[in-house]
Amino acid sequence: MTAPALVWLRNDLRVSDNPALAMAAASQRPLIVLYVLEEGAGPRPLGAAARWWLHHSLAALGRQLAAAGVTLVLRRGDARIVVPGVATEAGAGEVFWNDRHEPGGAAVDREIASRLAADGRKLTTAKANLLVAPGEMRTGTGGSYRVYTPFAKAVRALGQPRMPLAAPDLLGRGAASTPASDGLADWDLLPTKPDWAREFGPVWTPGERGARQRLDTFLSDGLARYRDGRDLPACGAVSMLSPHLRFGEISPYQVWHAVAGAAARNPALDGDADKYLAELLWREFCWHLLGNEADIATRNIQGKFDAFPWREDAAARAAWQAGRTGYPFVDAGLRQLWRTGWMHNRVRMVAASFLVKHLMIDWRDGERWFWDTLVDADEANNPASWQWVAGSGADAAPYFRIFNPVTQGEKFDPDGAYIRRWLPGLAGLGTRRVHRPWQEPAGLVVDAGAYPDPIVDHGLARARALAAFAEISRRPS
Ligand SMILES: Cc1cc2nc3c(=O)[nH]c(=O)nc-3n(C[C@H](O)[C@H](O)[C@H](O)COP(=O)(O)OP(=O)(O)OC[C@H]3O[C@@H](n4cnc5c(N)ncnc54)[C@H](O)[C@@H]3O)c2cc1C
Repeated sequence: MTAPALVWLRNDLRVSDNPALAMAAASQRPLIVLYVLEEGAGPRPLGAAARWWLHHSLAALGRQLAAAGVTLVLRRGDARIVVPGVATEAGAGEVFWNDRHEPGGAAVDREIASRLAADGRKLTTAKANLLVAPGEMRTGTGGSYRVYTPFAKAVRALGQPRMPLAAPDLLGRGAASTPASDGLADWDLLPTKPDWAREFGPVWTPGERGARQRLDTFLSDGLARYRDGRDLPACGAVSMLSPHLRFGEISPYQVWHAVAGAAARNPALDGDADKYLAELLWREFCWHLLGNEADIATRNIQGKFDAFPWREDAAARAAWQAGRTGYPFVDAGLRQLWRTGWMHNRVRMVAASFLVKHLMIDWRDGERWFWDTLVDADEANNPASWQWVAGSGADAAPYFRIFNPVTQGEKFDPDGAYIRRWLPGLAGLGTRRVHRPWQEPAGLVVDAGAYPDPIVDHGLARARALAAFAEISRRPS
């Protein structure tokens, strides 16, 4: 009897364009597919919203594989013990996985690779979840890129990424006997008391099919409006593919070619497609940065920020988290985040800037809040974006550029539709007042509580932040 192939899936919860699965299928061996909920060593432990996503994504993948007669084996624990153990239980002849690039995960993989080699098992790995692996791109002098524009230019100079792989035919390819699996429900990934994720379900369809639907909707409806509409949170012109990309339910190769192909068929989409591909390259750039700065979630990339006088202000932080800062554009974003696990990019920038600059609360506090509440929370994109907003990052927005939360709302939500959607208590206000409700008579009601006055005055907060920045700017970075 042919020894089975063991495929270990991680951030690649898909069947199509999955090189590890395709190679395992091509090996003609019976297949065993494994997912490990890693504990102890490995990637950063998932936040609560991402755990919700993972549950539903694994359920969808399990159904998809089961329809072809392949079992998804679920195990939890230290992958360094679990993966070689399952390979032994299954008598696997070969092991396959797609590379991952989180520093903790990659370190675990190296240990497991040695263990498998010591056990005499062949391991085959592939690049699957990034167009360019961290470390693959080097500047002319052999250094690593720290600025987005030359990085993106160099990636584009490589030419078109490879074409996505078709889904292998898995029908009847499951191994006759598979190691026992944990029950997904026993992992307690879903919130219960209270079920704060009850509004996630109508917004999202985790899994490969949901990802494809989201891409198709974007191609038919969002892409043509993307260049001009991507900054308008009420416009619905963005793809909302981020959690699907985060969990690898769709690959960047699939997304790239779908968008580039749409523009090739319809040149009127050229500008929109180009802008979209540039955003996909921001994702690549963040992963490239993480490859060079393993502690990007905890350490200021620009050392001078180590001396920044962050304020300890638990009440202000709680008001920000709850979307009760008194600035409607910021609060609408934080409510959208809490209720759907996602926030529009423009609002992420303004809300993050508000925490770091208006409240002078450490960006790491905000990063952790997003990590816990975003369904797309990503080990590279999240900290890199926070450092970008804070001004402490490699290629960061300058600290002295301070978003005005009112004028940002007026510019990017001109008729207040986004604010009204997430703060229905303000829905009755006119277009000017909806951005500055404190100018209304007292007694406004939002979500059963009076909508607060601004917790800081914009002008004073701005001056305070600039003074603090001027102080640390005198230091060498
Ligand atoms: C403070 C802050 C925190 C963030 N945290 C995350 C995070 O944890 N996970 C995450 O995926 N994105 C994060 N982003 C980036 C960005 O906001 C989201 O990727 C984007 O809003 C996702 O929506 P979308 O899929 O509709 O994007 P689209 O506009 O449709 O873009 C397509 C894809 O490109 C990538 N992308 C777009 N913008 C960026 C960007 N600025 N940086 C990196 N990749 C980008 C994403 O994978 C996205 O799905 C953060 C941004 C900020 C300002």
